[in-house]
Amino acid sequence: MGYTPEMKELIKRVEATRAERIERTRRGEYFTPMTLDERADVLKKFHPDYMDEGRRAVKLGPNKGDVYPEEIVDLFEAYPRLHPDQVDCSVLPTYTTDVLVVGGGGGGTAAALLAAENGAKVILATKLRHGDANTVMAEGGIQGADHEVDSPYFHFIDTLGGGHFTNRPYLLAALTRDAPLVIAWLEKLGMMFDKRPDGRMLVRHGGGTSRKRMHSAGDMTGSEIMRVVRDEARNRRDDIEIMEFSAAVEILKDAKGRACGALMYNLETEEYFVVRSRAVVLATGGNGRLHIQGFACTNHYGATADGLVLAYRAGVPMDFLHSTQYHPTGAAYPEQNVGLLITEKVRGLGANLLNIKGEQFVFEREPRDVESAAIIRECAERGLGIRTPVGRLGVWLDSPMIEELEGPGSVERELPAKYMQFIRYGIDIRTEPMLIYPTLHYQNGGIKIDQNAETGVPGLYAAGETTGGVHGENRLMGNSLLDILVFGRRAGVNAAAYVKSLGGDLGEPKLDHVRDYIRELEAAGVERTRISPMLLPDYTTDDVRQRQLTACYVGTMR
Ligand SMILES: Cc1cc2nc3c(=O)[nH]c(=O)nc-3n(C[C@H](O)[C@H](O)[C@H](O)COP(=O)(O)OP(=O)(O)OC[C@H]3O[C@@H](n4cnc5c(N)ncnc54)[C@H](O)[C@@H]3O)c2cc1C
Repeated sequence: MGYTPEMKELIKRVEATRAERIERTRRGEYFTPMTLDERADVLKKFHPDYMDEGRRAVKLGPNKGDVYPEEIVDLFEAYPRLHPDQVDCSVLPTYTTDVLVVGGGGGGTAAALLAAENGAKVILATKLRHGDANTVMAEGGIQGADHEVDSPYFHFIDTLGGGHFTNRPYLLAALTRDAPLVIAWLEKLGMMFDKRPDGRMLVRHGGGTSRKRMHSAGDMTGSEIMRVVRDEARNRRDDIEIMEFSAAVEILKDAKGRACGALMYNLETEEYFVVRSRAVVLATGGNGRLHIQGFACTNHYGATADGLVLAYRAGVPMDFLHSTQYHPTGAAYPEQNVGLLITEKVRGLGANLLNIKGEQFVFEREPRDVESAAIIRECAERGLGIRTPVGRLGVWLDSPMIEELEGPGSVERELPAKYMQFIRYGIDIRTEPMLIYPTLHYQNGGIKIDQNAETGVPGLYAAGETTGGVHGENRLMGNSLLDILVFGRRAGVNAAAYVKSLGGDLGEPKLDHVRDYIRELEAAGVERTRISPMLLPDYTTDDVRQRQLTACYVGTMR
């Protein structure tokens, strides 16, 4: 298949400017970065977060009145899958444990490991298979200031700048301080980091970083992290029980308002069951599959914001949920790859971003939101984007530069997954540029936590992409893999300590908070046309959606 003849013609313009651009890069010259005012201007005019359209105030709950993307508000203004009157926890199949971890990505698995290490019995329940998660898809790297010329201080400052100085400082301090510990922990678990010939860790720049601190494992860093943490969890069968295809649909609380487990739904048998626990950790990941503002997304199939809904109904406020990350470089062609992430590492290795004339228009290491806004401006306002046969717009990412700058074979060595994902459609990224456009990538905001990964509800912890505040309004590359492990580990340690502090106390599970929430929905005049949590993307046809609603409100529970 490959590029169309028309696109190949346009690529000649990229080739025409390449030699000169490579020379400039070799001399250490770059496209001039934007000033702070220029950044603010391009964000205001072109970043989707700054538009009024597609956003509205939520009518109820802890963040009543706050304005979020409509797709998220729709989930908060939706009825539970089951009315509490339909649920009698005393007759449902029930499992009991100390700590219930919801979510089988990197954050959840780290929490399970540390809770077990600290003496707790753990059930890790996950909606799909253990490891079906955004973590396994992560490509470019994980940040950690563990080199001589670097320190958590510089990491803190860089991340604060990237987040437009909005990050919660107590969370950021935890993130950057624990980072060297997390890198060492991963190595101890057997992670195969990219290394220099002398055995030292290979580190690179990411967007918005003043020091090279990005650690990687090819362009499959998340997969390698998931491999080691998952293996470790699976090896601790006596302490960690894994439940797959098991989705949490509601938090259970006892009469004292403490989290004491979850109402679960088995996606295979379509039966509900209960896990009773002394503490709960939510590590349910992001919301890419909501396709906010109609954007394509990079996320795995289960990224449907379930944790936000569960926590919100349990009375936990959200932090920074107004803010969404659109990754600057998502594939815009071929159609089969649309939305697919093109890791920032491609720009880190020297590839330029170019418009239809083959000209650079932005510094390649601006913070992600600024870079995305600049690409949207190039296409929307300046009309200098490249149009695909189906009418999508994009700009070029000149990957062949990497072979010139880093030596022959470097694309296959550094970006093996990307190489395969394009060559199968007849595009050789060693010799042809990629066409890219911003893609919905990351949920900047989420469940409000403190530095111990505690929410405001006793016994309820949260970690990873489902939380908000660490990154403020913009996350820097490599800080999420770090975030999920730092706060996953902290959640595990603190949940285990909390369990110990309770003694043998196991609360009687209730859904009174859900009943209260339904009353609020009714008082706010919300119609019964939506249910949440979504569990799987809403690509369902009307008849399936109708069946789901009927099963909840008219039919019987299996
Ligand atoms: C393509 C891609 C590339 C990325 N590259 C990088 C990178 O290079 N560096 C970086 O730092 N970050 C990167 N990120 C971001 C990072 O990978 C994620 O933010 C992070 O891995 C999220 O981890 P998590 O554990 O919070 O969530 P996830 O890894 O998504 O895990 C969430 C888990 O919860 C489960 N779940 C969801 N709802 C329920 C429910 N109701 N009941 C039970 N289980 C549920 C899901 O099935 C899943 O198993 C990338 C993300 C993507 C998508």
